[in-house]
Amino acid sequence: MQIKVNNATLELVQGDITQQGTDAIVNAANPTLLGGGGVDGAIHRGAGPDLLAECRTLGGCETGDAKISNGYNLKAKHVIHTVGPVYRRDGKQAPELLASAYRRSLEVASENGLKSVAFPSISTGAYGYPLTEAAPIALKTVADFFKAHPDIELVRFVLFDGKTLAAYEEALKRLPSD
Ligand code: ADP
Repeated sequence: MQIKVNNATLELVQGDITQQGTDAIVNAANPTLLGGGGVDGAIHRGAGPDLLAECRTLGGCETGDAKISNGYNLKAKHVIHTVGPVYRRDGKQAPELLASAYRRSLEVASENGLKSVAFPSISTGAYGYPLTEAAPIALKTVADFFKAHPDIELVRFVLFDGKTLAAYEEALKRLPSD
């Protein structure tokens, strides 16, 4: 499923983000940037040990911020590491922190001249963000970014399982078109 926002494409696919050939893939990392489980573990396995070596030099990442590295053995030339909110811990601030994780990732992509970015579903795994709440925030933040930054041409959400894809498809159908 895909839509156009201005001239940019926002698409939803089911798959493995480590296999994407976009200019960057986004990692749902933890604040240490020193690796973890879920999508973070998969990205480090795909990139190889040079990724961890570079991540050690990045000085960690605050919740809602993003840092860029090379992609090493991945098809994508870059990994943008972002840290989403922990749903139960961050409470009322969780929606803004989740939006910030997507926005800062795209700002970093734009600052580095990148045109295509693949995202996983940030915070909806170990960090416990309910899918039905996270999906509309993710999609609206990306659509709003496109309106202000025509340099980004493609954002692909790569959703790992059918349930996650279905939640994003439902949210995309309901996305306000203004
Ligand atoms: P968080 O800590 O931000 O919740 P997780 O990695 O636990 O991050 O989960 C985020 C999402 O990434 C979940 O929907 C999970 O199923 C998904 N995921 C795990 N492995 C991959 C992968 N290889 N490609 C894409 N998504 C993945």
